[in-house]
Amino acid sequence: MSSISLQNISKSYAANMPKAVEQLSLEIADGEFLCLLGPSGCGKTTTLRMLAGLEHPTGGTISIGDKPIVSVDQGIYVPAEKRGLGLVFQSYALWPHMTVTQNIEFGLRLHKVARAEREATVARVMETLGIARYKDRYPNQLSGGQQQRVALARMLALNPGIILLDEPLSNLDAKLRLEMRAELKRIHKEVGATIVFVTHDQWEAMTLASKIAVMSEGELQQLGTPDDIYERPANRFVAEFVGNLPINIVGAGHGKAGDGPLEDWIAEYLGAIGAPDTVASVGIRPEAVAILRTQENTSGFPVRNASVVDVLPTGGNWIIELSVDGSKLFAITGSTPRLAPGDTVRIGFAPEDIHLFDSADERIDF
Ligand code: ATP
Repeated sequence: MSSISLQNISKSYAANMPKAVEQLSLEIADGEFLCLLGPSGCGKTTTLRMLAGLEHPTGGTISIGDKPIVSVDQGIYVPAEKRGLGLVFQSYALWPHMTVTQNIEFGLRLHKVARAEREATVARVMETLGIARYKDRYPNQLSGGQQQRVALARMLALNPGIILLDEPLSNLDAKLRLEMRAELKRIHKEVGATIVFVTHDQWEAMTLASKIAVMSEGELQQLGTPDDIYERPANRFVAEFVGNLPINIVGAGHGKAGDGPLEDWIAEYLGAIGAPDTVASVGIRPEAVAILRTQENTSGFPVRNASVVDVLPTGGNWIIELSVDGSKLFAITGSTPRLAPGDTVRIGFAPEDIHLFDSADERIDF
């Protein structure tokens, strides 16, 4: 059983510092590809290191299957080498005096795997990661990206049930990174291991994960599928952190007209759809802002004039910067917009495409 359970895990590095991880509880199912996602310093690496046995939590319990490997209360601490996990961290420390082949087969030798099986395994993982042609080179004769792939191969050769990866693709260029993501997904399907993958890159998490745990300041903000996280963000932080283009946030609620033209319009809109009084801000993704082609409004909801400030091509998509009487709003379209700065357009959005938040920035389901 390669499920993982974290219960109320906390970590403080020093008494006078804020906790790096605070009361984190996470259930990771056997075979899950979980991405720990969040901005720099939010506690992702600390969480992974506690799982790996490289850092002692100051509170809580971690179990693999139904076996606790760490429990601060019960004084249980299974050391890293006895946890049977595969690790690849940002600093992929290969043995400098060993060739690629020797690096990859090192763990297999330690486990006394017979020579024929060793050779077959090494050949297979080299093939998977496209590194067979470097097999006789030493690490200092390889690029950062090639070394990263050797580190992945060395870990995969041991066929672990749980794989922990900390930004393992950070040294690769964009094309190789994309290829390696596809490769990792394929490997995950093939070997069926449980993967915990740390990244600050929301795009990477969305493309790889079966579940994403979004963290901020040591605390879990949301655990869900990539669709959950994107379509139903649990709070404003998640809504603003996830998305290729920043979400438009309008800090105005129902009955709070008077703050500005955009806020007035949103207040009118919330009234028209019968939104609860507790709404304090509204999130509208750029792709949800519809630029209406006719003067007619058939939606039944308030639409409004806006002026085009700029049209920014991004290769296949166009970002439209709009001004609603001076308040900025971004839209995006996948078809040639035929708009120019200074044009007046009518804009609107469907009620199911907006996100409502209360004064504590928590999602309001409506
Ligand atoms: P990044 O993406 O930049 O690696 P992260 O989300 O992985 O960030 P952590 O490395 O887990 O974040 O750090 C969480 C917090 O703990 C940060 O405030 C960091 O400064 C602090 N921290 C991490 N390691 C140590 C340490 N060894 N000693 C003291 N503080 C630390």
